[in-house]
Amino acid sequence: MNAPVSTEPIFCFEHCQKGRKIYALQIPGECPLCGVLLASSELILPPFRVPSPFSRSPHSLVIRPTIGSFLRDYKNARDLHIGITNSKGLVHDYNEKGVNFGSSSWEQCVSVPLQCRNARRWDAELRNFSAHGDWFPQNYSESDHNCLDFVVGFLRHAEATVRVSAPLCKEQLCAELILPRMTQAAKYVTLYRRVSAETAYVSAS
Ligand SMILES: [Zn+2]
Repeated sequence: MNAPVSTEPIFCFEHCQKGRKIYALQIPGECPLCGVLLASSELILPPFRVPSPFSRSPHSLVIRPTIGSFLRDYKNARDLHIGITNSKGLVHDYNEKGVNFGSSSWEQCVSVPLQCRNARRWDAELRNFSAHGDWFPQNYSESDHNCLDFVVGFLRHAEATVRVSAPLCKEQLCAELILPRMTQAAKYVTLYRRVSAETAYVSAS
């Protein structure tokens, strides 16, 4: 999946009916509600970019669909891949090929920044942890030694040194940190698909 992923922003504005938000990838020439030329009329709410949930931050959990990109391929939270970034935002992730460093497939991902009290040691700990034999390709198991085990394993490994404040069990990490971000991302994906299918999408109220 090396095709470039779309980063087109979604614009939002209101023209003639308060509360009826108009979303589009490009501001249309005419208002989809009243048909008036937008260039020559007042807007209730001037266009702004809808904040994108996608970013790649340092010292973060990073999440993307296992195959493809969020905007094109995301279906539900059951098919996700997770990794962890170093201080430069370089992703370390574990799959059947072993640990990957800085793979280009993380162009469009959701970040969950982690609070840590000793960021200085983060990169060295992540490097050491990634080199451990536990994460050789032959040890990979889709059900119980996978990308999430790698991430939680790192958080546990580095608990004493980098002092990260995150749950250290898989279930809690998913429920508290990952799923809320996925809900947010899914809303954006739905909106993006609506606006790319039509010239503009108008909210009900
Ligand atoms: Zn209008």
